[in-house]
Amino acid sequence: MAQTAMLYHAPIHSLLSTMRAVGGMDDAALYPDLADGAAEAILEEAGRFASGRIAPLNMVGDRHAARITDGRVTTPPGWKETYRDWAEGGWNALAAPEAFGGQGLPILLNVACAEIWNASSIAFALCPLLTAGAIEALTAHGAEDLQARYLPKLVSGQWTGTMNLTEPQAGSDLSALRSRAERAGDGTYRITGQKIYITYGEHDCAENIVHLVLARLSDAPAGTRGISLFLVPKILPDGTHNDLRCHSIEHKLGIHGSPTCTMIFGDAGGAKGWLIGEENRGLACMFTMMNNARLMVGVQGAGIAERATQQALAFAKERRQGRASTAKEGMSPIIEHPDVRRMLLEMRAKTSAARSLCMATAAALDGQHRLPEEKRAAAARRASLLTPLAKSYSTDIALEVASLGVQIHGGMGFVEETGAAQHYRDARILPIYEGTNGIQAIDLVMRKLPLAEGETAQEELTRCKASAQKAATSGDAGLAASGAILAGAAEAAASCIKAFAGTNNADSTLAGATPFQRLFATVSAGANLIDIALATRGSAQEKMALSECRFFIGTETARAESLAAHILNDADVTLEAEFG
Ligand SMILES: Cc1cc2nc3c(=O)[nH]c(=O)nc-3n(C[C@H](O)[C@H](O)[C@H](O)COP(=O)(O)OP(=O)(O)OC[C@H]3O[C@@H](n4cnc5c(N)ncnc54)[C@H](O)[C@@H]3O)c2cc1C
Repeated sequence: MAQTAMLYHAPIHSLLSTMRAVGGMDDAALYPDLADGAAEAILEEAGRFASGRIAPLNMVGDRHAARITDGRVTTPPGWKETYRDWAEGGWNALAAPEAFGGQGLPILLNVACAEIWNASSIAFALCPLLTAGAIEALTAHGAEDLQARYLPKLVSGQWTGTMNLTEPQAGSDLSALRSRAERAGDGTYRITGQKIYITYGEHDCAENIVHLVLARLSDAPAGTRGISLFLVPKILPDGTHNDLRCHSIEHKLGIHGSPTCTMIFGDAGGAKGWLIGEENRGLACMFTMMNNARLMVGVQGAGIAERATQQALAFAKERRQGRASTAKEGMSPIIEHPDVRRMLLEMRAKTSAARSLCMATAAALDGQHRLPEEKRAAAARRASLLTPLAKSYSTDIALEVASLGVQIHGGMGFVEETGAAQHYRDARILPIYEGTNGIQAIDLVMRKLPLAEGETAQEELTRCKASAQKAATSGDAGLAASGAILAGAAEAAASCIKAFAGTNNADSTLAGATPFQRLFATVSAGANLIDIALATRGSAQEKMALSECRFFIGTETARAESLAAHILNDADVTLEAEFG
């Protein structure tokens, strides 16, 4: 049984059909580097490494968690060697800038590969996820000498990156940050303070760790306008150890292989740091990193959902109980029972929906750099709109799908032996970090819906209605019915957006933010699944894509109208509830 838990096969066909139908991969002008089988070849290779090397480590990491002894953190057995081989294989450099040794390949492809790494082990894949954010922030905002010194080794994966935001009193609210920075007079800074929950803040997989740290200058204005971003390396350019250390690591519900560190900066007067961007403009720089990380956390959700689904499917084919109506004798594999089929299809449909939202966001991010100049701003706005949807929906369903995975295993799911419980425990962090899903919902309704005076959200709904229309005229009665549901759901979303824009009671909007986020995600993903179902017609995937699409729209998107009624009519219920 433990063997089944370790198995993972990259879903190359599903990844490619989503990249095509939702990401526009076949547009040769946009993605010349993915043409002629290039994407297929890279995904196959990634799948081989992931199945052979990373996936078997997932359970090892759970059982032999990262450890700390005298301030030194040891990752689980096999982690170090696998990370080294993974980085040497060039995987860390896939989408990084060519000027610093990267391959400059599209984010769309990188997201597909990231799903593969994360499905194999999110605890393992977290390390490169944070390095990628550091690369992006440094590329966008770092001074040339800093870029030259740090980017090549971050891009190769020889060094890794971290994101040091959280402090005990400053979680979702970064305006409460207390870490200090003092000008040293030679252009560098001295950083002091404590950071908590720092992922891979200390470990043994790389020679150096490049910390990106948010801190406050003593003369900085209060609040978020007084926060600056610093690069604080573990090992200084002269080879000496910087004044920083890992004080402890957390014991936690899941992702045991990933060290979650409390970091202390400045025991001996201050860790040496270099400013990134301008003084007091750190949060804006950090947002570059956070946006990348938010999408990638969504991808973690799609990945773990895929892994849990594969495992549940394998189990459902093996485990025999009861006799299905179609069987003549003996006990049937549980996959033959309609209720188990329902659970498996829900897992498949939600996983595909999450993947489609992540791919759509990735394609919009690519468009921001690859489209003709006049179309780039709209692509950037679309990426902004879709990021909270991709992050929140994919991570919410990761938990739902992993929970169904446990359910399909019955009692075997609740005991640790099968690994189904690990997926559930590991997935629990995803709606929390990188901005809780509640914070994503606030971002969506307060900042993203108003983008371009509401135009960006309207364009997304217009796209959804066009997919609904294509379904209506597809000649397939089931798909046409899905199209009709989607069209109604898009109207429901539009009525909420109109109400949010028309009210001056921000609390009533905030009370509906999370249900609206779910509603909008199921509309957008529903349209994606129609596009995939239509694009895979005549292929081996046609039947599954159609099943997923109809199931998803019939059970998820179909809730949009009742959710909208709740959002529009019941804000007072939430706001006036008496909790005693
Ligand atoms: C395993 C792990 C790894 C992590 N890795 C990193 C890392 O590498 N770097 C890093 O800097 N941080 C990291 N974090 C921290 C993580 O990002 C924070 O835990 C997260 O942002 C939430 O902050 P908090 O825990 O203080 O919760 P709080 O901010 O206290 O939130 C508690 C609850 O209140 C809600 N809430 C808070 N404010 C509002 C509001 N204004 N409106 C509505 N609801 C609100 C939240 O949605 C949440 O449900 C990690 C955390 C964990 C557990």
